[in-house]
Amino acid sequence: MKNILLLGATGSIGDSALDVISQNPDSLNLYGMAFNSNIDKASDIANKFLPDYAYLENSNYQNKLIEKVNPKTEILSGKDELHNLLNDPLVDVIISAISGFSGLETTLMAAKTGKTILLANKESIVVAGDIILPLAKEFNTNVIPIDSEHNAIFQCLVGEKAKEDVSKIIITASGGPFVNKSLDELGMVTKEQALKHPNWEMGSKISIDSATLVNKCLELIEAKYLFDLNEKFFKLVVHPQSIVHSIVTYIDGSSICQMSNPDMRVPISHALSGTNRLPISFLEIDFSSLNLSFQDFPEDRAHVVNIAREICNSGGSSGTVFNAANEIAVASFLEDKIKFSQIYDVIYRTFDLMPLSNNLSIEAIYEIDNQSRREAEKVVKSFT
Ligand code: NDP
Ligand code: MG
Repeated sequence: MKNILLLGATGSIGDSALDVISQNPDSLNLYGMAFNSNIDKASDIANKFLPDYAYLENSNYQNKLIEKVNPKTEILSGKDELHNLLNDPLVDVIISAISGFSGLETTLMAAKTGKTILLANKESIVVAGDIILPLAKEFNTNVIPIDSEHNAIFQCLVGEKAKEDVSKIIITASGGPFVNKSLDELGMVTKEQALKHPNWEMGSKISIDSATLVNKCLELIEAKYLFDLNEKFFKLVVHPQSIVHSIVTYIDGSSICQMSNPDMRVPISHALSGTNRLPISFLEIDFSSLNLSFQDFPEDRAHVVNIAREICNSGGSSGTVFNAANEIAVASFLEDKIKFSQIYDVIYRTFDLMPLSNNLSIEAIYEIDNQSRREAEKVVKSFT
């Protein structure tokens, strides 16, 4: 039996992970869960899965949660209790699925546990890949990606020597709800349109990232760190059907890809499996009616992709600035403060305004995140 600690249990990845757990009750157990403040959803989960522990970040709701949850589940709050939960010897696997920069703290803690981390929170790698991955190595922590493209690459690399034998890795992008629309056509799109992804059901932040294609920029940086390869190895391609989740081409001309219908339970169950695959119910690909297409990444997003490539090469504070500017821009768009196309302007201007530095401590990353958010807020204000 694998004991799972699910960070971000009330979110979209949380839903998919819980579904995989519920389909495999003989091998998977929800041992602990963490979330921010959604006590209604959290209590439903706790009362169904009966975890030993539920951690909530927003301690104002602690008493209310205690009233709603079965007595078997102990309610935890405060950083020390979170730290103890992550290091509980009974926890086997930690799923890092808190959204955005808020996921950094727990991903860092998880990297030092020597357990297995299933990584969904790409933002923590974008801002602190230089710190998290060496820490994971030092503490013998096994990092398995569950972002679908990275999980696909991970599966295509099993048994291979990436450094010596890979010639190219193609990261696919669905293109989001505005695939084939030029940047000029995106000025007045509404948030309802932007939130409506054609293939995937996801949290609001990543849905907007998908619509802007910034998600693919974050994923390029994530891939560079997770697979420890130069950004030149990675090509971004639009594949609107979201069936091929990425492709690895080897130096002998073989290309290996991983395919499934778009469903986050597939990469999650792969990452939760051990020596055998875990069975889940899934929608089979209908190969006889399959019509796959691949297109170049849109030219008018070249600037944002070039920034992501620059971040891959320079490291340091650049990922933190990019991520903070994007988080402020996305939140401002969702609050109707800026237009969709201005998300890019907030990123570009903040990136230009912030000085870049190297060899950062975690404390410095938090400080730069703060400063970048303040700069990005100023840019947003200048638009309103
Ligand atoms: P959601 O917005 O749906 O869920 C976010 C989760 O994080 C919720 O459980 C939320 O709790 C919790 N949370 C937020 N802030 C905190 C905090 N400070 N402390 C503790 N818990 C917190 O996000 P998604 O599930 O869509 O995404 C999660 C991560 O996975 C992101 O990094 C995303 O990029 C990545 N990812 C997501 C994919 C998807 O298909 N959704 C695909 C690939 C990667 P509460 O509900 O209480 O607010
Ligand atoms: Mg992805």
